[in-house]
Amino acid sequence: MPDPQPTLDTQFDAEDEYRPEPEPEPLPPTWMDGSLRIGIHASIAGSYLNALESARKLGCNALQIFSSSPRMWQGGPARIPEVDAATFRARRAELGLGPLVIHANYLINLAAQQPMLRTRSIQTFHDELVRSMALGADFLVIHPGSRGEARPEQSVVTVIESVKQGSKRVSLGNLRILIENTAGMGVAVGARLEELAEILAGLQGVPAAACLDTAHLFAAGYDIKSETGLTSTIDLIDSTIGLDRVPVFHANDSKIPLGGRVDRHENIGQGKIGADAFRRILTHPRLGAALHEGLTGRAFVLETPIDQPGDDRRNVAKLWELAGLSDQAPPAEKGFSMLTTAIKKIQMKTAATAKRAEHGKKTLEASAASQSSAPRKKSTPAAKKSKAASKSKKSRKTKRG
Ligand SMILES: [Zn+2]
Ligand SMILES: [Zn+2]
Repeated sequence: MPDPQPTLDTQFDAEDEYRPEPEPEPLPPTWMDGSLRIGIHASIAGSYLNALESARKLGCNALQIFSSSPRMWQGGPARIPEVDAATFRARRAELGLGPLVIHANYLINLAAQQPMLRTRSIQTFHDELVRSMALGADFLVIHPGSRGEARPEQSVVTVIESVKQGSKRVSLGNLRILIENTAGMGVAVGARLEELAEILAGLQGVPAAACLDTAHLFAAGYDIKSETGLTSTIDLIDSTIGLDRVPVFHANDSKIPLGGRVDRHENIGQGKIGADAFRRILTHPRLGAALHEGLTGRAFVLETPIDQPGDDRRNVAKLWELAGLSDQAPPAEKGFSMLTTAIKKIQMKTAATAKRAEHGKKTLEASAASQSSAPRKKSTPAAKKSKAASKSKKSRKTKRG
């Protein structure tokens, strides 16, 4: 076929040609600068944004959150509305907080044998992944679960299959799944580093790594308290999991002695591990901030109890101090504590309930008075009461916890 002849002789000026700007290299997020990251588990009560503000006010540069209520199967909406997620991502970027770690629901049991529980666990884990993506999280931490009557080798296979099924058809982007070691209570899977390594080895093709909890390590029998014990534990981590596959540590002291196999966290320096050990851990050259692949600064995230207002802020400050980096720590807000905020919320709630009850009493009295003079309404005080109760139940349900 002959080439079609142009019908119009177009004037072409090379200067008019649209030349796209070269795609700018995406800048790595500010928190991927190889510096040490100190975070805390922050409450999302009220709003996801509250967790970001708490982490900032506590002097953190990283944080961990739950993306829904951790002890309920339906602890909130399975999906986060995009407008909420976008606001959260923008504010987090503004604050330069990272990594953002999400801790999965405690009810999920990836090692479950019972079909109903297993299905529910996989579905809930899947929802966790979807919410983690929406919030722009870097890591989703999950416990391997409890093996029940199953043999340990069998439960490792079950965990691997559950993770694979739950993450199927989710585009994970930069999100990585972190399997957390356990204290070895009862029939919990994952107290031994070798077992965690086996799980990770079975997850080729899934972006998975490990999160190691210092309190769990200690309770499981790894003596990270002594200098020699720490060295041999680090050697073992490296030869089993690989140190470069541990981007996050949970930094918790332990109420339980070495090998006690119970999971009870304590304030840094007040437990059986002790401040000296945490100093060695935080300054250990092999646990340095810069990871292979130039990815994240290594993160140490607190999950310590907050019994007294300020325990949270003091634990964060303690980690910076023991790392020898107090001068580089982001400034904390004087007097801030998540506990104080929580107490205030409870007080406000109690006051509101008392006010409602007072109002209800007055209404009842008024209606009783009007009924005695003109008994034409059928609504009894008891019916009104139950109506009010169902109303208050409704309003409580919609609140995020
Ligand atoms: Zn955990
Ligand atoms: Zn933990």
